[in-house]
Amino acid sequence: MGIQESVSDLTPNTGEAPWYHPTGNEMALFEQCHARGLAVMLKGPTGCGKTRFVEHMAWKLGRPLITIPCHDDLAASDLIGRFLIQHNGTVWQDGPLTRAVREGAICYLDEVVEARQDTVVVLHALTDHRRILPIDKTGETLQAAPGFQLVVSYNPGYQRMLKDLKPSTRQRFVAMDLDFPTPELEARIVQHEGGVDSATANGLVALAGRIRQLRDRGLAEVPSTRLLIAAAALVMSGIPLRDACYAAIVSPLSDESSMVGALRDLVDATF
Ligand code: ADP
Repeated sequence: MGIQESVSDLTPNTGEAPWYHPTGNEMALFEQCHARGLAVMLKGPTGCGKTRFVEHMAWKLGRPLITIPCHDDLAASDLIGRFLIQHNGTVWQDGPLTRAVREGAICYLDEVVEARQDTVVVLHALTDHRRILPIDKTGETLQAAPGFQLVVSYNPGYQRMLKDLKPSTRQRFVAMDLDFPTPELEARIVQHEGGVDSATANGLVALAGRIRQLRDRGLAEVPSTRLLIAAAALVMSGIPLRDACYAAIVSPLSDESSMVGALRDLVDATF
């Protein structure tokens, strides 16, 4: 089973910094974790900026970034590597985690809770003072190169009862809470990323604030900053504001007709 990891070289001075607006002291905390080789767990709802934060920090620290989206079919060999059969025999091919360990990259496992326990276990020896990766199939034990750092993301609200990280895994990470930013800051982000004027950005954020209050009244997922940016982008391409909100914010959140009706009423009351 292959995986779709993405590799980006975010070395400063060779490209533009991925734009990130801090919401607290997360940048200083991350830099200290990086300097001390501590693994980091980014906790927060979907679309609150976790991925953008890692991209920005990798750029700032001058490290390549290898991103691995986790899913329940992800096997340890997808992370570590495998022997490939070729016409003249078999050759070993490093997986993305092994490459990150060799290259001293930041390895970002997105939605780590989706991965199976036996897959997550291969991370353990990398998260303590040993910083090693044993590769059973080749008999090698790799020492992580300087600069290597493990970062995982985790959405605590999502499928909480069904899936959770084991305490023995959680305790190997420094956890950082990244929640939705304050309304003022979120409006700046929507304005910057979506390209809309400040009145529209403020309106979208006000709408999000109202919808987020429905969290305890049957709405499983609340609108993320990402959805607001999508609505803003539709507005910028000429879609009327309300239609953009129905398409980018209301429909993705619910299929249930009474909830959809309530959400559409909130859109109409806001704009
Ligand atoms: P997550 O990884 O938490 O699901 P993302 O990092 O993909 O979320 O965030 C979704 C989008 O929201 C980003 O592409 C970015 O445009 C925007 N965003 C959210 N928070 C911030 C922030 N603090 N600074 C800059 N952009 C942000």
